[in-house]
Amino acid sequence: MIPVSQAEKIILDLVKPLSETESIDLTLATGRILATEIVSRLDFPHWNNSAMDGYAVKFADVRSSTSKHPVTLEVVEEIPAGSQPQREIQSGEAARIFTGAIVPIGADTIVMQEHTQRVQKNFVKIQVTPTARSFIRQRGEYARIGDPLLAAGTVLNPPEIAILAATGCSEVEVYRRPRVAILSTGDELVTPDRILKPGQIVDSNQYALAAFVTQAGGIPIWIGIVPDDRAKLTAAMSKAIESADFVLSTGGVSVGDYDYVEAILAELGGDIQIRSVAIKPGKPLTVARFDRGIRVVYFGLPGNPASALVNCWRFVRAAIAKLSGLPESQWQPNSIAATTTQDLTADGNRETYLWGKLELIAGKYHFSLAGGSQSSANLINLAGTNALAIVPIDVNLITAGGAVQVLVL
Ligand code: AMP
Ligand code: MG
Repeated sequence: MIPVSQAEKIILDLVKPLSETESIDLTLATGRILATEIVSRLDFPHWNNSAMDGYAVKFADVRSSTSKHPVTLEVVEEIPAGSQPQREIQSGEAARIFTGAIVPIGADTIVMQEHTQRVQKNFVKIQVTPTARSFIRQRGEYARIGDPLLAAGTVLNPPEIAILAATGCSEVEVYRRPRVAILSTGDELVTPDRILKPGQIVDSNQYALAAFVTQAGGIPIWIGIVPDDRAKLTAAMSKAIESADFVLSTGGVSVGDYDYVEAILAELGGDIQIRSVAIKPGKPLTVARFDRGIRVVYFGLPGNPASALVNCWRFVRAAIAKLSGLPESQWQPNSIAATTTQDLTADGNRETYLWGKLELIAGKYHFSLAGGSQSSANLINLAGTNALAIVPIDVNLITAGGAVQVLVL
């Protein structure tokens, strides 16, 4: 049994980030990870343009203008957004201008429409002393052509998608998504559409793990339910290893007579790196490495639903993050300090992960245990879980009101 921190290090060291990339349409790129640096193809803004609806003027003309003694200028042109100014502004002149429109040559200041009064047809009174150069977005003020905009490894969220569009990338080079094969082992398992015969249970793990993989940005590959039969399990595990970057199997890693996963991993040539971890729930985590041209990491997860998910949240998510091409700062799960609203108990022998809810109350994070049993077989009270409270080894009790480190899911 190795400590959680050591298991995490071994696992992350096993993972080699993907190098294959693919070019995809920008409309499909949300959540994907950029594979190349993006350099600006344009100046931002691309034109000196107005930040307001109003009038483009020469500051020198209006520096003494006030509401009591307004300066009157002749309006010589109207410039809507998207059009090209036709005239240079001369002293005594103004151009009617709208937000986003190009500022005409000769003008250096925009006066907001609200501070003006149109008189006759072609004149405007400036009823304020404007600030020189106000309300002009200068060409290149935000970024210049050739400036780096986005680094490789950036996750494409709405702002990054906007930047890519703005700089003219309708196609974008991203890392391919990790392929993660999933299988469930156990003679007792059936699909959700079946009526249970005595002793049978529904294979919920394969669904939970597929959802987890999808959320983590991977592609789940469903291998199916495999009975506790050495030959069938060998065939299924070997198919899984050949078809993916990672394999997640559940069940069959304990010390029972029907727990074959570890033995088969060794037979298939896997280099077993982890046999059990001092974590509760989830101790029998088994991790093996295969090198068949590409590196495949096999995670033999325990069958109990909470054990399988806790291992995924604690270890597999970081591994997928590294595999995906994310920078190191984004591999580790987020953990924060919170106040526990209830006593948290543990046996002290293993790092214990208790599931529940994290809430921000009056500016402070509070953790509340999920109601009902914290049994690794209880998948029902996992509903709504958004955090795992961590009770360290050698600690038996964190009393209500005390500080606890919490993994944010
Ligand atoms: P095992 O790790 O194979 O000893 O399984 C431990 C417990 O988890 C047993 O009670 C199993 O019935 C249950 N279990 C195993 N696989 C699954 C699964 N795919 N979905 C739900 N429960 C499972
Ligand atoms: Mg089993």
